[in-house]
Amino acid sequence: MTAKDDKAHLESCLICRQAKEEEKAVNYKQGLFFHETKHFRLRHSDETRIHGYLILESKRHFLDLSEAEPEEIQEFGPLLAQAIKAVRRFSHPHRVYTFTLAEAVPHFHIHIIPREENLPKRFVGRGIMSYPTKPGLSREIRDEISTTLKRFF
Ligand SMILES: [Zn+2]
Repeated sequence: MTAKDDKAHLESCLICRQAKEEEKAVNYKQGLFFHETKHFRLRHSDETRIHGYLILESKRHFLDLSEAEPEEIQEFGPLLAQAIKAVRRFSHPHRVYTFTLAEAVPHFHIHIIPREENLPKRFVGRGIMSYPTKPGLSREIRDEISTTLKRFF
């Protein structure tokens, strides 16, 4: 990949752009990303009102693990397990869903979604895909949850 390709991603990829903007923000450590490793970042999703819905994303722009470097793959497994454990400690969900689609944003990221015991049946299993995205989560609540989750790492 050339430097020019890297720059193109910064402009066209939502995840790359968001990370770049967050880097410029003074409150980076307390901001959007509440935990990071050498190759990955974790943030709380604000796409839904589900508390504890995390996004684990690669720092480098690539589509899926087939394009990941060995070092990235090594870091990924333990971090994913740690993130799932954090979600379990946070809300003690019945299940924790994990999946990646990369359709809307073709940059590697995993959705980690706690499924509470009392979630309406229509959203259970594959139904989670139709969970309402409006209204999303407020910045205040997201920051509060992120601060709690941060303690589990
Ligand atoms: Zn990207």
